[in-house]
Amino acid sequence: MSKNESLQTWEDSEFPILCETCLGENPYVRMTKERFGKECKVCAKPFTVFRWLPGRGMRYKKTEICQSCAKLKNVCQTCILDLEHGLPVQVRDSALGLEDAAPRDDINRRHYMENQARTDTPLDFSGRANPAGREMLKRMARRGPYYERNKPHLCSFFAKGTCTRGNECPYRHELPKADGELAKQNIIDRYHGTNDPVAKRMLARSSAKVDGLAPPDDKSIASLFLVGLTAETSADDIKGYFYAYGEVKSVNVVPAKGCAFVNFKTRAGAEAAAQAVIGGCVIGGKSIRVAWGRARPKGPRADAPKPTTAGAPPPPPGSTRAMAYPSQDPTAQGAQPK
Ligand SMILES: [Zn+2]
Ligand SMILES: [Zn+2]
Ligand SMILES: [Zn+2]
Repeated sequence: MSKNESLQTWEDSEFPILCETCLGENPYVRMTKERFGKECKVCAKPFTVFRWLPGRGMRYKKTEICQSCAKLKNVCQTCILDLEHGLPVQVRDSALGLEDAAPRDDINRRHYMENQARTDTPLDFSGRANPAGREMLKRMARRGPYYERNKPHLCSFFAKGTCTRGNECPYRHELPKADGELAKQNIIDRYHGTNDPVAKRMLARSSAKVDGLAPPDDKSIASLFLVGLTAETSADDIKGYFYAYGEVKSVNVVPAKGCAFVNFKTRAGAEAAAQAVIGGCVIGGKSIRVAWGRARPKGPRADAPKPTTAGAPPPPPGSTRAMAYPSQDPTAQGAQPK
């Protein structure tokens, strides 16, 4: 490869790829542009750096990664959040079941990007997703821009009580919130969607809230409930899928209802599986929704100690859960012919 060729891989661009939040309220904001101003924080290629003030009282922002890297993941060049949903890559990719295909080493990445550029088909980050994952993203997506994020960074001297600049201080005089996870984020991890503490917390919160995947307090429960199976899905298919997370004691399929119970030998196995299937999973080419099984209610005393009833059906209609739990008995009322 000649010197000229390698220069051509440097990136020059007219306008940055930004999310609404990073751009700020005024779409006609004045930007400074510096060709090959910095190296991309992901691929280290020199690229055009844009810098602008996203509104009064905000801090200056600049592009941190190159456009090729941004396009590859459909993320903002500044905040590295998904452009469509405003969510971390890891949240989007777990919900949609996307693999991180972007190579991390230089040579492979260049090949990969050249191929992408040649085909010129932007990656489809939602079209090929399973419906459960798409639903999840819709629920989690931030509606509208969030300009608070553009405020100046916190003044570290103020936090220690030693800032002497008072009103002249360009940093924000507020005490930091209890969790410092955001500060610990690493741009490359966030870009590849791995090891992102913020994403992990969002996923855990979302799944606990909506999918009923928060482990139930009753430690005797070691079963998961699956909905959306095809008539062809066998107990062996299900066992084969979940075996990786823990030893499966039994699988009860209810073909008429397209649902099944996976009973794990240990609670730890069930928890590992529940953790892994956040946002749903795909078995036999079909996207499956997953919830925790429940102990069968015994009489009016809800607080009475319950015997282990792994695989018992979750609660009947009237439950506030987002998912409809059919009874395990296929002939029970409410059965839908498939
Ligand atoms: Zn790059
Ligand atoms: Zn952004
Ligand atoms: Zn200060």
